[in-house]
Amino acid sequence: MQLVDIGANLGHESFAHDLGAVLARARAAGVVQMVVTGASRQGARDALALAKAHPGFLYATAGVHPHHALEVTAEGEAELRELQSHPEIVANGECGLDYFRDFSPRPAQRRAFEIQLELAAQNGKPLFLHQRDAHADYMAILKQFEGRLGPCVTHCFTGTREEMHACLDAGHYIGITGWLCDERRGMHLREIVKEIPADRLLIETDSPYLLPRTVRPAPSHRRNEPMFLRHIVEELARDRGEDVATTAAVSTANARAFFRLPPAAAA
Ligand SMILES: [Zn+2]
Repeated sequence: MQLVDIGANLGHESFAHDLGAVLARARAAGVVQMVVTGASRQGARDALALAKAHPGFLYATAGVHPHHALEVTAEGEAELRELQSHPEIVANGECGLDYFRDFSPRPAQRRAFEIQLELAAQNGKPLFLHQRDAHADYMAILKQFEGRLGPCVTHCFTGTREEMHACLDAGHYIGITGWLCDERRGMHLREIVKEIPADRLLIETDSPYLLPRTVRPAPSHRRNEPMFLRHIVEELARDRGEDVATTAAVSTANARAFFRLPPAAAA
């Protein structure tokens, strides 16, 4: 079984001391390619460096998460444009809106999102999108760019059935994380993931966040890592009523098509 983790924050400080071992464990668990999330100016530089250091295995995105919206100054915009021009950067983002934490003022979030969508419209690369508690504004801003953007994934989808169908109707892929493996807050997702068409399904760990609760025993440090992607695909297959091999194969094919990845090299 070959898996692709489309969202791993491998530049996070918690991976600094043992990244080599983390990558080896991922490979041993069937994760053959990964997309490292770049979610701030520094984070995007770090993600690009990781992708350059592991060609054919790691790829990266370059964007500014809504938590860091104030980084999208004129200088920040120019830096993103430069980063996004590298071939190892396979998507724009992470960008979007987060009204759950509200770490940045909402007007600044909306402005940073619009600037990054304009960059994406110009470079044509896919979009790795974040939305939390901001569905209406998120869809309205995306609507302004209708017909000008490459493929979009609403990553770490945790919303309602109606929100999911609105994203699907807008043509988005849906990114599923270990949120699904949480028997408390993931319950509503378990009921709706079977409604995602097979050709729109993507999987991601969002490491080091969102350790799947089906990992037993839980590692003492609570850090999630890409080797646990298997737990997500297993839960997803169960909820969709299909074999794990099918869910794995379709999500891997979708990831390659979405990010235009070549087939994985033999380990
Ligand atoms: Zn996110």
